[in-house]
Amino acid sequence: MDAVVVKDIVKSYGDRRALDGVSISVKEGETLCIVGPNGAGKSTLLESLAGLVAPTAGSLSVMGRPVNGSDAQLAGQVGFMPQAPSVHTMLTVEENLELFARLNGTSEAVGSTIERLGLKGVRSQRADTLSFGYLQLLSLGVSLVHGPRVLLLDEPTASLYPSVRKRVWGIIREECEGGAAVLYATHTPEEGTADRGIVLEDGKIAFEGVMKDVRAHVLGD
Ligand code: ADP
Repeated sequence: MDAVVVKDIVKSYGDRRALDGVSISVKEGETLCIVGPNGAGKSTLLESLAGLVAPTAGSLSVMGRPVNGSDAQLAGQVGFMPQAPSVHTMLTVEENLELFARLNGTSEAVGSTIERLGLKGVRSQRADTLSFGYLQLLSLGVSLVHGPRVLLLDEPTASLYPSVRKRVWGIIREECEGGAAVLYATHTPEEGTADRGIVLEDGKIAFEGVMKDVRAHVLGD
């Protein structure tokens, strides 16, 4: 089943089109990589799918439901990791995971998420005292702790140490093998787990294909 379907989406900010007629579909258990220069529209596409940005035109559906920011049932099926980590600074790592899990009706996976992400050593530390890398891992944890069917990740490995990046790609692969549809934006398409990718330029899809071809396109080979 198509977990994500985007048809001809346009998002305008004044005269500027952040997205200009983008169409994609991603199946359950599939991973799509989104690359493109700064300002190409990657974050806007992910934020639109998360229901945080209302498109100017076009349609978006996730798990067969039209995306609109107030659909609580849909929110439970989606996990979004924004580019700038957005967690509760006054809460500890564990409290943040508990809170986000409970908001979506289940806190079963809090302990296993702490283990998977390597957050055991900082589980009782307040979020505002974490290094940026740990904050990023917590933000990833918050996006997946409730077992979403669709994961939207905006540069999930930016600022992480190589071995930690590797762990994160492993987690993303596991989520995909578990049947989730994963869409991630990255500036490093040579890493990662995607089956295929799109290259956004000026809000349009400039190229799409299997990752080998996407990498060649991006590197100009
Ligand atoms: P990317 O993630 O590829 O770097 P973005 O989606 O963040 O690109 O931005 C695409 C374009 O939309 C950029 O020109 C950016 O300045 C513009 N943009 C994004 N959000 C806003 C906003 N809230 N108001 C005005 N312009 C915006």
